[in-house]
Amino acid sequence: MEQLIPIASKLQDVLGALGQTTAIDLPQIVVVGGQSSGKSSVLEAIVGRSFLPRGSGIVTRRPLVLQLFNTSHDGQSETEFGEFLHQPGKRYHDFVSIRSEIVRETERLTGPNKGIDHAPIHLKIYSPEVLSLTLVDLPGIAKVPVGDQPENIEEQIREMCMEYISNPNAIILAVTSANQDIANSDALKLAQAVDPHGTRTVGVLTKLDLMDDGTDASDILMNRVIPLRRGYVAVVNRGQRDVNNDLSIQDGLKKEESFFRAHSVYGRDRQLLAKCGTKRLSQHLNTMLMHHIRDCLPDLKNRIINMAVDVNQELEALGTPASVASGPSSGGELLRLLSKFSTNFTAIIEGRGGQNDLRGQRSKCDPFRELFGGARISTIFTEVFAATIFGVGPFDGLSDEEIRTTICNAHGTRPALFVPEVSFDILIRRQIARLEQPGVQCVDLVYEELQRISSQSEPSELTRFPTLRDRMIEVVNMLLKRAMEPTQMMVSNLVKIELAYINTSHPDFIGGSRAVAQLMEKVGKENDDRRSTLQSGSVAGVSNNPLSPTVYRNASENFDDDNGVFPDGGPGDSGIMNFIFRGKPTVQPQRHRGNSGPSSVVHLPQVPDTMKQTDTPPTERDQVEMQVIKSLIDSYFKIVRKNFVDLVPKTIMYYLVNHVRDAMQNELVSELYRDAEVGNLMQEAEDIAQRRQTCEEMSDLLGKAMDIVTEVRDFNTFK
Ligand code: GDP
Ligand code: MG
Repeated sequence: MEQLIPIASKLQDVLGALGQTTAIDLPQIVVVGGQSSGKSSVLEAIVGRSFLPRGSGIVTRRPLVLQLFNTSHDGQSETEFGEFLHQPGKRYHDFVSIRSEIVRETERLTGPNKGIDHAPIHLKIYSPEVLSLTLVDLPGIAKVPVGDQPENIEEQIREMCMEYISNPNAIILAVTSANQDIANSDALKLAQAVDPHGTRTVGVLTKLDLMDDGTDASDILMNRVIPLRRGYVAVVNRGQRDVNNDLSIQDGLKKEESFFRAHSVYGRDRQLLAKCGTKRLSQHLNTMLMHHIRDCLPDLKNRIINMAVDVNQELEALGTPASVASGPSSGGELLRLLSKFSTNFTAIIEGRGGQNDLRGQRSKCDPFRELFGGARISTIFTEVFAATIFGVGPFDGLSDEEIRTTICNAHGTRPALFVPEVSFDILIRRQIARLEQPGVQCVDLVYEELQRISSQSEPSELTRFPTLRDRMIEVVNMLLKRAMEPTQMMVSNLVKIELAYINTSHPDFIGGSRAVAQLMEKVGKENDDRRSTLQSGSVAGVSNNPLSPTVYRNASENFDDDNGVFPDGGPGDSGIMNFIFRGKPTVQPQRHRGNSGPSSVVHLPQVPDTMKQTDTPPTERDQVEMQVIKSLIDSYFKIVRKNFVDLVPKTIMYYLVNHVRDAMQNELVSELYRDAEVGNLMQEAEDIAQRRQTCEEMSDLLGKAMDIVTEVRDFNTFK
């Protein structure tokens, strides 16, 4: 077993260092067999220590779980010692006292008179010279109860054995004494029940020295009697007399070796001799354990490779050591980072972000699932800004009441003769001014988007240089802020420009004549409808209507149809609408409240502080005036709104996005690339150096682990 120790402990070292302890779980070795067949003796010989109670009759009466720990690699003392689970902390330094403690502890539960118990005794042996492995010694199968044994002793012991050998990770040593008929072997019967294909069963024949003269086990050993896939090994353990004479295990092994060599049958046949002796049994077990280790290797190797890939990726991101910070190449590195940043920035804006070297950024945003960079800006223009602006209606925040009051106020002291143009002017300005706020907000949104893009443009190496990173963010923010002012100003100016001149000769503007014409058409239609439904007596009322077809016809004579304007355009009574009501104004007689009888003295009512038009319902004429003004506002507002939706994105692109994009590299270089500052900027974060060192150590360790895995794979168990 010793050959495996270095390999196993190397693997253990590696796994421990990699933080993996359970990668290789060596099989348990379990001995089963009839009573006094030599199970305990076989275990002792394998371990190479005398510590198990042995003898005739039922000696092993509780399972003994023996855990061996190799201490050669953990720098502990070189001495061996044993420790029982039931006596934690108590170290046994000699095997004679271990043996008496096993006896004592067995009897504690089972009594002195041959009773048995399922509860195992746990013994750990720490030694630099053992293979870390678990072995289990079990009571032998007894047929007839004796002493304090229960009636179903055989069944109980079988159950106990099954419990341990049914573990698929157990190697079964099926022990049968050679002076007994192998066909009656309890051990083989039990093993076959749990391991029908014999992949983990080794047949062990004991007491070869006690066979009758003239008989030998060669047929069994050559697998001719009850074939086992892993075959048989024959051993000669120390007999009772040897034990009484204190024959050491080592001397016992020598004695065994000479027995087989001198034997008239086994000693003459090399094939047979290869199946004889405790040493061969150990080798056999070694091979099985080695196969097990090798089965674990591919998985282990994969784990090492994966870890190595991770470590190398991290090392790559950490870049070359900080020693360059003060060296001559650091200036070049700084320039490279600055230019990489601005290249990334441009790329993201222009929609090449997905393909460029933006490893760090891709993790922040999945370009297959969400919009990214420039596409987001475009979405702000179309989905956010334009959609909102088109949602602003010509009369939002403007009630009919306000329109009517404005018109009335525009008349001034003059009685209402014409629809005063100044009211249109006042109202349309008020509505145009409403556009400024969303325009300025759009600039804000794009500004925030550019900040986001700038954080996405940081090369991954930048995490190493926190000072540089902070300074870069500062410079970029300054650049953005500086570009922000003229952009906002320009957007505000777009509104001011509109307010500066209300262009009533805009080709798309409906103009006074068409506004009136449309209204006429509407009213005419309504009158026609009414006429067709009313009797002729009521038609007189229609002719009083200031918008009766006659009035309209007179009015339209003065309108320049080609230009859509009035020949004498201008505010006041010669404005664009002044033609409409040329002729007698319609004065509605006012009724005075409280004026109840002819005999009473007439008093003017108290003039209120605030006069509101709501007090009197709009006359038909009021309504017509409002309709005209409204259709003019509607037409003109839509023209301005369309211009604005078109011009704001253009303005933002020119003054903000393109400007920042084009100025970025120059700005960064001129602000940050100064000889005196390079060293300071290229100072690595403190933890980076530490992290790099850890990574490098890990990388070394993984390399070694890989070597060991290869070494173990090529390890030859047979010398
Ligand atoms: P267990 O009950 O199966 O654990 O058997 P033990 O290991 O306690 O052995 C029972 C008895 O047989 C002890 O007295 C041993 O010394 C003796 N014995 C075991 N193996 C051999 C052997 O190969 N040759 C001889 N001569 N005696 C043996
Ligand atoms: Mg025993």
